[in-house]
Amino acid sequence: MPSHPDMTALVVAAHPDDGDFGCAGWVSHHAALGWDVHFLICTNGAKGTEDRAMTRERLIALRHEEQREACRRLGARGVTFLDHEDSELVYDRALLEEIVRCIRTVRPHTVLTHDPTDIIILDSFINHPDHRAAGTATLDAVYPTARDHLNFPAHLAAGLEPHKVREVLLWNSNHPNWDFDISALVEQKIEALTAHATQFPDPEGFAAFSRERWRGEDGRYLERFRKIALSF
Ligand SMILES: [Zn+2]
Repeated sequence: MPSHPDMTALVVAAHPDDGDFGCAGWVSHHAALGWDVHFLICTNGAKGTEDRAMTRERLIALRHEEQREACRRLGARGVTFLDHEDSELVYDRALLEEIVRCIRTVRPHTVLTHDPTDIIILDSFINHPDHRAAGTATLDAVYPTARDHLNFPAHLAAGLEPHKVREVLLWNSNHPNWDFDISALVEQKIEALTAHATQFPDPEGFAAFSRERWRGEDGRYLERFRKIALSF
């Protein structure tokens, strides 16, 4: 159990490794402070390989294990897989119910997820449709769905009380308004990401590339978020 009920966070990611890219520094820092951090991964990661000899079943099993290992390296407490098909995630009532159920179970103070607002991010990449679906469903789960016991009443019957999330942090946003300095945590972030060996088969090359690419002009490393403080 966390040392304080507010020291609980939920990371909702479309694919294995998204949460580590988005907020591994934040997770590592807060887990070390005693926060209870849980990951929810919406898809099975079955499309993330260029290895044509890889079977689908083996890839899914490997990506589950890689995410578990990344969570261990960050000090996160647990990971749940919804196992929707990679690249086919759609926002529907079923996905909303699954995320609301997880919020009502984990009862996070802070939820971290994809910013689903825009299709083009920072004029440099396209926001994957799975990221948009996961981010939109998560925001709708936070407000209003998880708060009101009349939504998905079967939860209440199963003992899951409504829950108010207090803070949302969105990564890969066109409108970041809050920076978390991870200059002292870059190696932990790289270590978490290199647990995803199917994605980064050359861990040393990936580490060197990341140290260079992520460094700001002032030499610092930042995780940049769009922060929403839900005060009511
Ligand atoms: Zn992704």
